Amino acid sequence: MNNSMPRRGPARNRSPWAAIGLKILAAFLTLAAACLVRIPGEIRGYAYQVVKELYRMHTLFASRHLVTLRGEHFLVRYSPGNAAHAPLVLETAEKAYNQLADKYYFQGRDIPIIIYPSRAELNACFGWPASESAMGAYWAGVIRVLAPEAWIPEGDDVEEIFSSSGPMVHELTHLMVDNLTKGNVPRWLTEGLAQSEEYRLTGFQFAAPEVSRNRFYSFRELDGEFDRLEDQALAYRQSLTAVEYLREVYGENKIEQILKALAAGRNMEEALQGAIGVNLEGFESNWQNWVIQNKSSGSRNSEPGRESFDDERC
Ligand SMILES: [Zn+2]
Repeated sequence: MNNSMPRRGPARNRSPWAAIGLKILAAFLTLAAACLVRIPGEIRGYAYQVVKELYRMHTLFASRHLVTLRGEHFLVRYSPGNAAHAPLVLETAEKAYNQLADKYYFQGRDIPIIIYPSRAELNACFGWPASESAMGAYWAGVIRVLAPEAWIPEGDDVEEIFSSSGPMVHELTHLMVDNLTKGNVPRWLTEGLAQSEEYRLTGFQFAAPEVSRNRFYSFRELDGEFDRLEDQALAYRQSLTAVEYLREVYGENKIEQILKALAAGRNMEEALQGAIGVNLEGFESNWQNWVIQNKSSGSRNSEPGRESFDDERC
């Protein structure tokens, strides 16, 4: 259920912008998630989908005072001050939807996208510290993004930069993976897929970590403590290379097989065994060896000029 939790600590309402009931609902969802752990995987998955739908409805209700822009699949909510680029957010989301939906067997309408005027207000929604530099977040069926004008310098080509370096493909991939697996997905796998899709569709890639030859976080760390890991660039890059390893060595269809096994309530160990015949420990060790070998043959680097947008986007 890792994907069902906020990315940075408990929700805290420090802004009138944040929904009044968010704290109570977050507590309820945390309690519900704790209860769900005790029931079989498949039932847990369906229960999670119900809880998520309740949260989506709550979000739409709590944001009813904002301006609404309705698209084919999304409901974009924003303050009047952010009207200028709300259509760009919707258009970018709809394009990403059409590029990803078939692949992740996704069908949805009225997906909430809440636009936040400033980093402070986005951070406050999740109780993140003011220093947090996220430009987007996904949690429980709802996408929250920072207004393009809040992070793209005036005079720059907002449309080009938002569509090529913005968070929409990344967050939408999280939403679709979460939906397909019914919340039963390790954090490293959904982060790897989100980065892989945005590289494929937009060419964007997070900045490479500092030189970290042969240094690895374990899957256990990546799964359970992702946001607390000191080297976030390394955590994101390792998530990406784990997905690249799966794709290059075993094929895209094995990733799909793994996601379907997770959707059926299997754990990652069982999903890997069923799809590629290797247990989690063996997969981890083979993947690390593959990364070490790939480094010497020159793995790809971040594109120059994009690194200034290397914010954490969970
Ligand atoms: Zn992410």
